[in-house]
Amino acid sequence: MAILEVLHFPDPRLRNKADPVEKIDADIKQIAENMLETMYAESGIGLAATQVNIPKRIVVIDLSEEKNEPLILINPEITKREGTETMREGCLSVPDYYDTVERAESIEFNYETLSNELIKTNTDGLLAVCVQHEIDHLDGKLFIDYLSPLKRQRLKKKIDKQEKLQQNVL
Ligand code: ZN
Repeated sequence: MAILEVLHFPDPRLRNKADPVEKIDADIKQIAENMLETMYAESGIGLAATQVNIPKRIVVIDLSEEKNEPLILINPEITKREGTETMREGCLSVPDYYDTVERAESIEFNYETLSNELIKTNTDGLLAVCVQHEIDHLDGKLFIDYLSPLKRQRLKKKIDKQEKLQQNVL
């Protein structure tokens, strides 16, 4: 197991579109395990492979308090969206920034498990938001893309300033 480096906005690699996983083999299992370890180490509730510079359609999620209910989604796909819901979101790739995003309230989606099972299911609430957020990553999309241009500009300025400060550290 290994902790992977999480890419931070505005890294252009976060815009890569991930390819479907063709065969669930030992490599894919290893990637999923490393992604879980990375997500737990960073105290996140979800992580997409794009965020660790692996352009494959793999997502890990764990919404449990004890962090012992990992959900691994291979080739996840949303087939139906219903209603709207707004929730405050954050992202391991956009540290220290939270904002409200409007998404579908409930979704139907399917995915493959590490043991090659095809699961068709539906969900709402936090899990629905999380699945939508992570699948966006696989398509090169970030939650801040939904913000108004003014808010995005402010965020960009804040990040530029942070980068300048970091460069001055000797
Ligand atoms: Zn994210």
